[in-house]
Amino acid sequence: MTSAFNTRQERRPLRLAVLGSTGSVGASTLDVVARHPERFEIVGLTAHSRVDMLLQQCLRFKPRVAVLPTEERARELRSALAGHAVRTEVLVGPQALCDLAASSEVDSVMAAIVGAAGLPPCMAAARAGKRLLLANKEALVVGADLFMQAVKDGGATLLPIDSEHSAIFQCLPEDRSRWAERIDHIILTASGGPFRERDPATFDSITPAQAVAHPNWVMGQKISVDSATMMNKALEVIEARWLFDLAPERIRVVLHPQSIIHSMVVCRDASVLAQLGTPDMKVPIAYGLSFPDRVESGAERLDFLKLQALTFEPPDPARFPGLQLAYDALAAPSGSTAVLNAANEEAVAAFLAGRIRFPAIHRVNADTVEAFVSRLGPARQLDDVLDIDTRARAHARQRIQELAA
Ligand code: NAD
Ligand code: MG
Repeated sequence: MTSAFNTRQERRPLRLAVLGSTGSVGASTLDVVARHPERFEIVGLTAHSRVDMLLQQCLRFKPRVAVLPTEERARELRSALAGHAVRTEVLVGPQALCDLAASSEVDSVMAAIVGAAGLPPCMAAARAGKRLLLANKEALVVGADLFMQAVKDGGATLLPIDSEHSAIFQCLPEDRSRWAERIDHIILTASGGPFRERDPATFDSITPAQAVAHPNWVMGQKISVDSATMMNKALEVIEARWLFDLAPERIRVVLHPQSIIHSMVVCRDASVLAQLGTPDMKVPIAYGLSFPDRVESGAERLDFLKLQALTFEPPDPARFPGLQLAYDALAAPSGSTAVLNAANEEAVAAFLAGRIRFPAIHRVNADTVEAFVSRLGPARQLDDVLDIDTRARAHARQRIQELAA
């Protein structure tokens, strides 16, 4: 592992790049970092559209590099920075993201971009042997075995940030070679989102505003819609398959509406280990940043005396048909999970734009996977996967046009 504060012996700050720093996870990461200026140094920040917010972050954290997608936005940031005593170089485009992720000036990369757009910089960080904090689950769903191979080849340390996967990780020994002998199966908990009790006959009239109003978590728009369809849990099943090297039948999902138990490991001896806490991403973020130490996260403590009850129920496949798509895609030829992710990204964007109704998200996803299953070639390199992603998106867009409300 690259030298870092948390190796315990060497006490110099961990040099961090936050990809997607203006998002929900990105902002929470900077919140945790700001509590520990002696431990963490921000070297790079990146954003897609919110130049104003990136400007504020640059003024506060003084990164050496900031990355934006277009020259126009970069110019905007450069001119806003001009009057300040901050020497941040503003770079442009996807290659700059990869260069930052692999830079020798970076020890650790927080991958907090949403969607498959985050895959190339994740692969770059993995190949360069970084300590890679993975919030960007779509990158692993799309990159799959190629992603894991890059982690292995590069000697990177992959640490989960998704709360469920962080929970599982916290319940397992630090020595990964002992995971297989220990785990019987894992249980990913799911809140059930805003429509757990809504009459499915009314799903046609669900608005984007209703879908993004999550009962327990405050998150970006895309993951909020994914939580409402339970496609988020589908992506997390695929994510868990790779992170913990588990056969899909060893990954189960249980609804737990209070979001207090973040996931569980059922051991070979029937003992169950769980990780609990208030639903706040600062907890898994702080753990990823400081692993194997623990530092103050700023999250509220759990008050057991205020908890009414912890309840559990099975996910209803008629209400949440998307969950099964994860298991189907994992059983299908490799590349199917990339197809599923691409279809879902397109379908969610179309739903948020008011082009399709809520139940059509599932139709687009299921039909796109179905259309590709028999014609997927092997994905041997990143370009093959990106090609599958592009073709699946084109197919999904076609289907969206047919289903347009
Ligand atoms: P968000 O929409 O709030 O933020 C996304 C960030 O990515 C922003 O900084 C945005 O500028 C950047 N971005 C978007 N598209 C981009 C592109 N094409 N190229 C480069 N940058 C781009 O999303 P979020 O809720 O913070 O989620 C980020 C990732 O973390 C997602 O993969 C999500 O599934 C995962 N995650 C989020 C939470 C949460 O609580 N928000 C929890 C678990 C996992
Ligand atoms: Mg999660």
